[in-house]
Amino acid sequence: MTVETILATKGSHVETITPDRTLADAARLLAEKRIGAIVVSRGPDAVLGIISERDIVRAVAANDGAALADPVERHMTTNVVTCTRHAGINKLMEIMTEQKFRHVPVVEDGRLAGIVSIGDIVKRRVAEIEAEQQALRDYIATA
Ligand code: AMP
Repeated sequence: MTVETILATKGSHVETITPDRTLADAARLLAEKRIGAIVVSRGPDAVLGIISERDIVRAVAANDGAALADPVERHMTTNVVTCTRHAGINKLMEIMTEQKFRHVPVVEDGRLAGIVSIGDIVKRRVAEIEAEQQALRDYIATA
């Protein structure tokens, strides 16, 4: 299974924020959209960074909340690991586990083409396992 399978159901929309917006803006967007990370970008092209709920929690914990007025660029991760829609899901799971993050933006020809979260992968794997089990049950019932 590849990233393409997940994007086919999920779509290619990615929430983005510009680097000059505040951490409070990012926190509001995360809460509103019920997501865990936002890609930092100035347009549809370059991925400048990623800001996740963990970055915000860390920043707030470090200075009692004053960081909420800081620009996103001060707390984002700039060395973003991305993938293409042809990336294998197992490989992606391995990368997420080893490098300890839960979101990977999909980039095609230098443009954002989606984002895959560990939640998307788990959801897909559970659906696959259920379908396999059902196929086995059907096979046993008709054998
Ligand atoms: P997350 O598990 O996505 O909440 O992110 C945990 C940490 O990894 C945060 O510091 C994020 O900024 C960072 N991070 C999230 N996704 C990526 C990624 N694709 N590449 C590099 N760092 C990331």
